[in-house]
Amino acid sequence: MQKNILVLPGDGIGPEITEQAVRVLKAVTQGTDLNLNFIEGVIGGAAYEAAGHPFPEVTKTAALAADAVLLGAVGGPQYDNLDRPLRPERGLLGIRAAMGLFANLRPAILYPQLADSSSLKPEVVAGLDILIVRELTGGVYFGQPRGIRETEIHGQTLREGFNTMHYNEMEIERIGRVAFDAAMKRNKKVCSVDKANVLETSELWREVMIRVSRDYPEVELTHMYVDNAAMQLVRWPKQFDVMVTENLFGDILSDQASMLTGSIGMLPSASLNDKGQGLYEPSHGSAPDIAGQGIANPLATILSAAMLLRYSFGRGDLAARIESAVSTVLDQGLRTADICTPQDRKVSTIEMGDAVVAALN
Ligand code: NAD
Repeated sequence: MQKNILVLPGDGIGPEITEQAVRVLKAVTQGTDLNLNFIEGVIGGAAYEAAGHPFPEVTKTAALAADAVLLGAVGGPQYDNLDRPLRPERGLLGIRAAMGLFANLRPAILYPQLADSSSLKPEVVAGLDILIVRELTGGVYFGQPRGIRETEIHGQTLREGFNTMHYNEMEIERIGRVAFDAAMKRNKKVCSVDKANVLETSELWREVMIRVSRDYPEVELTHMYVDNAAMQLVRWPKQFDVMVTENLFGDILSDQASMLTGSIGMLPSASLNDKGQGLYEPSHGSAPDIAGQGIANPLATILSAAMLLRYSFGRGDLAARIESAVSTVLDQGLRTADICTPQDRKVSTIEMGDAVVAALN
């Protein structure tokens, strides 16, 4: 079986970390019937420099034609003064919209070897394994109308900013199904996070989640208000299996959950559309402060490559081999600078890639 992967290294540490993930993908598929063809493209600041736009037409065409996309990260201080539509982040929004990536999957897993990196007590986080499913193309980030306008209040003209939150039943149902399908492969628990005591969008969200749950009798569905969810994530995060929530709440909660693991360089993500295509990227940014130094942690990108094999190519077996190789490397005490304690052996980005490839064999 031949599959095409579009590789978009992007900016900052992007090229260094995607290079290691590609090496791991090549190594894990060697000798299997899965034949990967890698095509390289540009996005973000790198695309602005090469083609004058952060998401050029040529990248869009290649993304729509690919079976999956592996992305490094975009952004950097040298682009901060560009007009908003030309900023690197627009490349990311552009590719998400073009591919219709409505489901963002962010696992927050604490590797036992890294329990001391968390800001929470080891007994609170040891064994943590949560999957946050965030709706990515709806809600207040995309709602119309939006803008800044002048308004009369008590005879005074004031400017007011406004955004609107919309969700229709189809949008809620399809993200609900992603969450329940994922829960079926895990511990069969879904916690739907909303603000149904205040928001009508949440009232509908809750109603549709209950409807979807009827097709998954084995999965336990609970509901939680978002303010409580933020509290519970810090109080006792291991109560959760899969959390599903709308765009804005998911943006905040997934960052909060990722920090429970104490190591941003370890966390992968997948964004999926309804055709089984996906975009896979680390949860962190382009880390311009350490770019080009060969010290970035490539594990989040390597683990994103594992998600790619699992979710886009149905090869959970190969994904598990990568995840187990990462665990072996951590057992060996190898650490990049971001997760290194005095007892560990500090390695470079390339040495970490070497070690994962060696552990695969
Ligand atoms: P960041 O995640 O890039 O970096 C935050 C801190 O974590 C930095 O100290 C960095 O050195 C460190 N870090 C991040 N990834 C690391 C890794 N793999 N190994 C070791 N250390 C790592 O966040 P930021 O500093 O807020 O943003 C920098 C740039 O990245 C900005 O331009 C921002 O817009 C962009 N950004 C891009 C994405 C994306 O492409 N998805 C996401 C977030 C931020």
